[in-house]
Amino acid sequence: ALGAGLGILMLRRVRSLTTPLLLATERVQAGDLNVRVPVTGQDELSVIARHFNDMTASLQRTVQEQRALQRTLEARVDSLVEASTTELQVLSQLGLFMQACETQGEAAEVIARVAPALFPLGGSVSLLAESRNMLERFAAWGDAPGGGTWLPEECWASRLGTDHAAGPGLNAPRCRHDRSGLGTLCLTLNAQGETLGVVTLHFPDGPAAEQAQALARRFTDRLALSLANLRLKETLRHQSVRDPLTGLYNRRYFEETGGRELARAHRQGWPLSLLMLDVDHFKQFNDVHGHAVGDMVLRRLGHVLGRQFREEDVVCRYGGEEFMVMLPNCSPQAALERAEALRTATEALVLAAPDSSGLTVTVSVGVTTTTGDRSDLGVLVRQADQALYRAKAQGRNRVAAYRAE
Ligand code: GH3
Ligand code: MG
Ligand code: MG
Repeated sequence: ALGAGLGILMLRRVRSLTTPLLLATERVQAGDLNVRVPVTGQDELSVIARHFNDMTASLQRTVQEQRALQRTLEARVDSLVEASTTELQVLSQLGLFMQACETQGEAAEVIARVAPALFPLGGSVSLLAESRNMLERFAAWGDAPGGGTWLPEECWASRLGTDHAAGPGLNAPRCRHDRSGLGTLCLTLNAQGETLGVVTLHFPDGPAAEQAQALARRFTDRLALSLANLRLKETLRHQSVRDPLTGLYNRRYFEETGGRELARAHRQGWPLSLLMLDVDHFKQFNDVHGHAVGDMVLRRLGHVLGRQFREEDVVCRYGGEEFMVMLPNCSPQAALERAEALRTATEALVLAAPDSSGLTVTVSVGVTTTTGDRSDLGVLVRQADQALYRAKAQGRNRVAAYRAE
């Protein structure tokens, strides 16, 4: 009876320990890691229970750590996505504005205004001059210096043809053109197989992170493309309105602007004058010295014309050896004076033929001015032409004003 009693007691004790353990394992299996088994004694079953508790606690810690890691990873991915979305937006905004730019000056302003959103500490864009032996600061923002020129050999990126990072913590020489003392990244601006210049970007400290470098490259490539397009656009526009021999405006531009200038003169109530000039005995330059000398005379005359007039005056090569100058807000008297000054300046030109003999160039000028009524460009040109004809008839190398017969 004692033995049976002891047996029952032991069985109860074992049950009192195994039942909670059994329940606890079921709950852990169901995912509840908060469960713990009460530990009362020092026997083997209690040791098993303690180990079970330790194991569950350790499992719980690992799971918590993993969750925390996952949360930080998710947050990082979110912020990266957000940052790259903003960067993409800024880059596409930059592309859009650059595409709409008509002049280099506008492009410089767009860069200076948009770039700080990507590189707030500062940076600059320098372009290779036409001579290709000098870089000119084209746009700058932040603390970067604006304006000024520097030599290609002052920049490692330009020398090596690769991106170059320098700054605190980097074993790389600093470019001589960069006196910022900050972390700096120089990137070459390349488009259509041609180097256009260098982009210099500043970073808070040390070497720029890989991600920042990738962004800097994308920014630079986008700029290069836009700047190359703008250059092409400007060249095409220049070619369509300029005379290639003298660099003056061509007849097409004269006709385009003439109508506008006449309307403006009428609106403002100011006089508009027209000078038409023709080189005297120009055929002789060609006949005696050849066409190359004739062309040289035209180029030099174009140069004189370019210097003689105000910014708002329109100086054109009308055709052959005939030129037109449109003078907005210029009275008949002032127009005659300008024409006379031009005639004298032409006469004073010192030109030499290939055989070193001196050449004298003279011009005859016809002058006319609007009368205040709404005028027609064709009428005005005919008047100037009539005046010019008179100047020729009176002996050339002179100025004549239009007179209504
Ligand atoms: P004037 O006007 O005083 O009456 O005499 P001119 O000799 O200038 O007469 P004309 O207007 O008949 O001659 C103009 C010449 O200009 C004819 C043409 O061969 C020449 N010419 C026109 N365009 C060019 C050009 O682009 N280059 C050269 N070299 N010659 C040109
Ligand atoms: Mg002529
Ligand atoms: Mg002539």
